[in-house]
Formats: sequence, structure tokens, C-alpha cells
Amino acid sequence: MINQAALFCISDMPVCKTKSSAKSANKIYTKEIAISSNFSGNISFKGKIIDSHVHVGKFGKEFYTQQDLDIFIKSPLRNGDTIEKMIVSNSSCIDTEGILNEIDGHKQLIKIVGNNPKIAAIAVCQPNLTNGKTKFIEKIFKENPGRYVGLKFHPRSMQLAANDKRYDNYMRFANKHKLPCLFHSDRTYDKHYEGGYVGKRCNYSRPEQIYELARRHKNVPVVLGHMGGNEGRNTKAAVDVIVDSIENNSATLYADISWVNCDTAEKPDIIEAIKRLKNTSQGDKTDRLLFGTDAPIGRFGGKGEFGIKPFDAYQKVIVDVKNSIRQAFSPEEADALIEKIFYKNAQDLFFSKKNTSLNLKTKIIASCTTILSAALILICGKKHNKNNRTAV
Ligand SMILES: [Zn+2]
Repeated sequence: MINQAALFCISDMPVCKTKSSAKSANKIYTKEIAISSNFSGNISFKGKIIDSHVHVGKFGKEFYTQQDLDIFIKSPLRNGDTIEKMIVSNSSCIDTEGILNEIDGHKQLIKIVGNNPKIAAIAVCQPNLTNGKTKFIEKIFKENPGRYVGLKFHPRSMQLAANDKRYDNYMRFANKHKLPCLFHSDRTYDKHYEGGYVGKRCNYSRPEQIYELARRHKNVPVVLGHMGGNEGRNTKAAVDVIVDSIENNSATLYADISWVNCDTAEKPDIIEAIKRLKNTSQGDKTDRLLFGTDAPIGRFGGKGEFGIKPFDAYQKVIVDVKNSIRQAFSPEEADALIEKIFYKNAQDLFFSKKNTSLNLKTKIIASCTTILSAALILICGKKHNKNNRTAV
């Protein structure tokens, strides 16, 4: 069975394909929740989390609202973790049926999330519809200072290859305002599933195509959402371009781990990505990995899947990833990695800087203070000299 939700975000990726796999997933889940309680008191399981890939709005037959996110953020998870922030985009601008334009998508998003301090928004851009013109996005940012922390692009949904020149103005805008850009990334290779289904190589969102664009705008942080697919050589292709960009200082690439190794408790491709990024010729670059889920899409929304409720599925992916990291690294390394991937990297990327309108104001105030201080020194200096002269 092919999961409809997954068709949207990670082309044709099956999630919990059979009832038996759901049963074993449930079994694993139950076991792991028990394991997770053993870790209480440890930073890994009482940590802060930023989910860097979340949606509201229309997706297929569903319409997701703040309530779909509240189940994750209103109270701590069972293992003691707290979702500090969710980075949210409006899938009504991505869903090809009844798509909203950039302006209407913005209005709807604001209406849905209001001023919830735990929600940070990223603006969905549609260079296919605007022919690469950024006037709507510019207007949204101008009229809503500080509201958005980044831009979001879904090349596959737009059917606009990520290396197309129509993205360039948006990337210039991102560069000017220091905005990270989250790209849906997708399969580099066909994926053959049980039952003969073939998930095709993507024509629009392959990591190498996104990398080509990112190289033209090398200072813009570009996040490969879903790390290029959900496993094996597809995720490896994403890590390949990230490592290449680091070795050659040719772009600033990140990846989020939403849907990576999603149907197994073990997360071999996430661990492999960590190991490779930990050991680049430029040193430890594990700051390039972000935790994300794609909630409330698929198992993380509605009634959940196969008897596992969204809250439990959400908690499970966190516990699974953390346990996999703990098994692969020393306790100290694991704690540091968990803190980075689940919180610090996203905090640094999206929140710890830069030309937001607030910071712009701070810069202006700082400049004025400098000018005033200089004037004061000049006046005092003259007075002092005058006094000196008088004394002489
Ligand atoms: Zn998504």
C-alpha cells in the first residue's frame, strides 16, 4: 500500500506498507517507550527540540490547523523532551489542487498560526507562477517584519527543476535578508518496492540540482528536506553533495532527516550521514543536520496510521533516532550530537542572527550610538583641550 501523504512530500515513499509491518512497528514502539524511560534524567531524553519541517494548511483531503500541532507542543513528550519550536510552512501553497498564491498562502498561514510563540514560519515561494519575480514575497516580508525565518521551495510540486534560473531572484532575496531556504529534495535513483511498484527518480528536486542552484548563491543556507529520499543510495546522494560543498567551499548545504529510515527503528542512513559529516577535511560539520518530521502529514496527523496515534508516532521517531545515535557513538558524543541535531543546529540556523527587522533596528541604534559617542568624545576633547589651554 502506498501512503498518500508520502506522495506529497517524498515522492511515492511508502510508509508502513503492510499491516504486519505496522504491527511490528507498534511492538517496537511499545518496547522503545519502555527503554526511553530508562534514560530519564539524561540530557538526550529531557532535551529541547526544534522540529524544522512542519506544515499547516491543505494537503490532499486534509486541512491541518494549529490544533494538529498543539498535540506535540502543548506539553512535554512522554520521555521528557519539549518541542520548543516548529518551523512551519503552508502546504496550501504546495498542494497542486486548489493551490494558493504566495500572498493568499501567507494570509492563510497567519490566520492559522496567529502569534503562537512556538511557531516560526517559512514562506512558500512559487517561482513557477511568478516567473521568478519576487515582488509578492518582498511585500510579505516588508509588511510583516520578523514574521518569517526562511523560504520554502518544492521543485517537484511546481515541476520546476531546482537549478532553473527562475529561483535566482528568490535566492538573491534570501541572501540579502540572510534567510535559510528549505528545499524539498527527492530521489536520485529509481526505488523498487515489494509488489513491483517503482518510485521514479525525480526530475525536479534531486540534491545535485539543488546543489547547482546553491553553488550560484554560495552564502545562502540551503536545506535538503528529507535528505534526498528516505534511504540508501538516495540519501547518500544528498550527503555526497553536502560533503562536496564543504570540501570545496562551494555552497552552504544542510539536510533535515524527515522520513529518513522512517519504517525501521534503526536509522543506518542517518548514522552514516553523521559519521561522514563528523569527519570532513574541514572538520566536524554535523552542524549541517536538522531534525524534522513533516508533521502533521502522514502518520503524524489525523487518526495516525495502523492504530498508532500521531502523538505516539511522533514520539517514536524521536526515540528511535536518539537511540540509534546512542548506540553508534560514545555517551558524550551522543549527547552532543543529539543536542545539535535536535535543537542547536536549527536554533543557530534560523534564530541566532541576523538581518531580521529587529536586528536591523538594533544595528541602526548601534550606529546612532557610535555616532553620538564620537560626537561626545569630540566635544569633550575640545573642551578638555580648551581647559588645558586655559590652564596653560
Ligand atoms: Zn514537507
